[in-house]
Amino acid sequence: TVTLTEDLLGPAEPAVRPAGRPASLEADAISAWFGDHKVLDRVSLTMPAREVTALIGPSGCGKSTFLRILNRMHELIGSASLAGRVLLDGEDIYDRGRRITHARRQIGMVFQKPNPFPAMSLYDNVLAGLKLNGIKATRRGRDDLVEECLTRAGLWKEVKDRLRQPGGALSGGQQQRLCIARSLAVRPRVLLMDEPCSALDPTSTRRIEETIAELSEEVTIVIVTHNMQQAARVSNTCAFFLAEQGTPGVIVEHGPTDAMFNSPQDPRTSDYVNGRF
Ligand code: ADP
Ligand code: MG
Repeated sequence: TVTLTEDLLGPAEPAVRPAGRPASLEADAISAWFGDHKVLDRVSLTMPAREVTALIGPSGCGKSTFLRILNRMHELIGSASLAGRVLLDGEDIYDRGRRITHARRQIGMVFQKPNPFPAMSLYDNVLAGLKLNGIKATRRGRDDLVEECLTRAGLWKEVKDRLRQPGGALSGGQQQRLCIARSLAVRPRVLLMDEPCSALDPTSTRRIEETIAELSEEVTIVIVTHNMQQAARVSNTCAFFLAEQGTPGVIVEHGPTDAMFNSPQDPRTSDYVNGRF
């Protein structure tokens, strides 16, 4: 478990921002190591504003590590060391002197396993990220924000009459949409999603995909998925990660999703997207 201390997050920064403009995110020559084990080797990728970028590739090739590096999550959960830069609209989120909250407020994250606070009410679940990020809101502001975020996550109509029920009482798909709502409460400019549908049934998966399509107008999205149909349905751009025979993960090929699926340049991409490994 992770304890978010003042040490890690720094003191509260002032003011709730208005809904942010979607930002571009650029990974510039990211390498990462767990101890002596190098897991990413000079990975560069531009994730344009208002687009959905899908990260695909076999297990263990560093997709989750890469995603966590994009919002400094790895600093909270593990000991990966890092080289390279991550630019949010051109600003390096790792610049010395920048607080971790600078990145975490602007770049939200949703995980494979829905992880709402099970005993906490739906209402408080949505707002939980505000407190962690030192953002204050008035009572009225909180009510409005809860409705806004649950609406954007496609959950409002289903739960508006039972906001005091615990997060754990929802179905898996609803829990994941609650987690999306929670990540939206800080009004991020980028949303990172690590296999958000892998634990869900096909109907819930479709609902999340619809939500992704709607959100992509307002927030830049980066999604890891093992589901090629999903990558084809939701993304504009696709990046294929691979770690061959004990070598660190690299991007073999990236480009518009149509091209990646219909005319891949690298035979390994072709094999992967066609399910041949
Ligand atoms: P993917 O998401 O593509 O499956 P990961 O980023 O989870 O890949 O893992 C990439 C590599 O890093 C793997 O070899 C994995 O074993 C290793 N790894 C991931 N997390 C840790 C960790 N916390 N400590 C040590 N090694 C890790
Ligand atoms: Mg992973």
